[in-house]
Amino acid sequence: MNWITIAWPMVASACLTLGLIELRIGLTQPPRAARLLFALSAFAVAGISGLELALTRADNLADWWPLMRWLDIAVGLMMVSLTAFIWVYFGTGSKWLALAVPGLYAVGLAFDYLPGSGMTYQQITGFRTVETFGGVTFNLAEGVPNPWNVFPYLAVLALIVFVVDASARLWRRGGRWRAAVVGGSIVLFFLVGGGQAALIETGAVQMPYLISWAYLVILVAMASELHADVLAAAQLASRLQDSEMVLQQLRSQLAHASRVSLMGQLASALAHELNQPLGAILRNAEAAELFLAQDPPDLDELRAILLDIRQDDRRASDVIERLRTLLKRRSLAPCALSVGDLLTTVAALTRGDAAARQTRLEIAAAPGLPLVMGDAVHLQQVLLNLVLNAMDAVGHLPAERRQVRVGAQRPDERAVEVSVSDGGHGIAPDQLGQLFEPFFTTKPHGMGIGLAISRTIIEAHGGRIWAENNGSDGATFRFTLPLVEESPAP
Ligand code: ADP
Repeated sequence: MNWITIAWPMVASACLTLGLIELRIGLTQPPRAARLLFALSAFAVAGISGLELALTRADNLADWWPLMRWLDIAVGLMMVSLTAFIWVYFGTGSKWLALAVPGLYAVGLAFDYLPGSGMTYQQITGFRTVETFGGVTFNLAEGVPNPWNVFPYLAVLALIVFVVDASARLWRRGGRWRAAVVGGSIVLFFLVGGGQAALIETGAVQMPYLISWAYLVILVAMASELHADVLAAAQLASRLQDSEMVLQQLRSQLAHASRVSLMGQLASALAHELNQPLGAILRNAEAAELFLAQDPPDLDELRAILLDIRQDDRRASDVIERLRTLLKRRSLAPCALSVGDLLTTVAALTRGDAAARQTRLEIAAAPGLPLVMGDAVHLQQVLLNLVLNAMDAVGHLPAERRQVRVGAQRPDERAVEVSVSDGGHGIAPDQLGQLFEPFFTTKPHGMGIGLAISRTIIEAHGGRIWAENNGSDGATFRFTLPLVEESPAP
């Protein structure tokens, strides 16, 4: 086998390879028409390549004729798909020139299906074996040329003018690289391919069709476009990563701001919380003074009082510590934690506030709940926000009906669900979908970021947060937390 006969299959494989890559890109969501059209043209040229090779072997009309018909169809398909490709890919071009391409070609192609005629030759008179490319022999058909064969050439001419015009328009709009490389390669291909076909069909040269070889120019141009696209996509991905990081920082700043604002609301509650141990310390110190004044002083009583003072002091510093951790900006550090403990801490943090608002806070965790993966401080923030919102929602009710219930249960094997339920005004149905949007608030002095941040925190934990109206009145907010994964048995 000579190198020349291998060249066609090689051209076909190159077309198929790039065609498949383009098809793959074209079928991503949303589908890209330009890529699909280019893939179609590449597949058509792969077919042309095979047909061109087969034609060099045909030495009788029965073999030659169907091959030639298929070649004409494949060439038409290639021309139409390239025209449509340029139309979509460049986003510009003359509609009439684009429509002239299939119109003119169809007239020529019709001769293939008229009795006693063909697009290229009216009649085949015989076959000749010629030697070319340094000793390789090919079969060539000889016949009476069809004078109407001018139509496919007019179609090629229309295509060339269409591409030149579309490229010039794109060039003026700033797409110079694409106009020059893609537009230029297509024009070059049709000049070379069309020119060679014309020379063969007019009998000026005696050689097989090499249209598919010329298509390599387009393949190279499109491969370089693809390369540029891949590079651009990589740069875009890295820019996206950068903006994602900025967004993350903004979110964390926002979370911090919201914690500070929450703390504003909580300040009175915490002052109340601190007052208790401080008052107890004061009263114990006064009692100690009385015991010291006795003669002899009651040392046992004094020891008991000192112990009380120490415990109260620890309680006070615990409250301050909780405040400090809550105010500090931290990234997520999940570890195994008990939901029961979480609810107890939140109950302690909100007890003062609940008393000030004359709201009854009921905490009920189902027994035997498994440990969850979570960051205690962030989850406290979520729960605080939900409880304070619930207290807001029942604020307008008479004191005896102001009630907020916090519960924890296990809905399925994979998660624990925490719920905060109130008997307040509930949520307007049209607002249910917006509650977790940033800055959505119905309160005159609300910031509307509490729930948005809560959602960010819960989703970062791999959980889900949602709200629903209760059957009777009020609303329930729920979130899930994933369980600590059991380590596999050794
Ligand atoms: P803010 O409290 O600043 O308004 P949030 O993000 O905490 O911001 O809440 C957004 C909105 O969700 C509130 O303004 C309110 O309309 C609604 N909302 C939150 N919790 C409840 C609740 N328990 N009952 C009814 N509506 C609620």
